[in-house]
Amino acid sequence: MGRIPSTVAPHKRGVNIGSLTCAQCNRADECADHILSDCSYVTTTREWIFRWCGLQNVAADTKSIRGLLDFASSWGSCPKKRKVLTLIFYAMLWLVLKARNDKVFNHKSISPTLVADNIKSLVFVWVKHRWRKKELK
Ligand SMILES: [Zn+2]
Repeated sequence: MGRIPSTVAPHKRGVNIGSLTCAQCNRADECADHILSDCSYVTTTREWIFRWCGLQNVAADTKSIRGLLDFASSWGSCPKKRKVLTLIFYAMLWLVLKARNDKVFNHKSISPTLVADNIKSLVFVWVKHRWRKKELK
């Protein structure tokens, strides 16, 4: 919905905040879509997650946030696996944004592969502790 805080949003309102360039890739203006889907940092992380999930040769548009979530909600024939894949994608979006915020506000760089590892850990914790058991049956 474009509501992720980015450098472009205040610039559109007339606030001068300096560079609009993405902190992760330094290749494009940092708008909400770029932070979560277009950035090469996100592409690398997404490739690692797809590899972990055994997703190869995905024909669907998974480069947009809506396309990614639509793909997860219609993937395969098992509803439980669809829910877990959706959960993995939500974790990916959350941790990619967190990595961006760490870079911008704490000057802390995290590699896309480390983000992918953190996604795996977070999904494990979410499933183990927060998912009601009847939802996984
Ligand atoms: Zn970028």
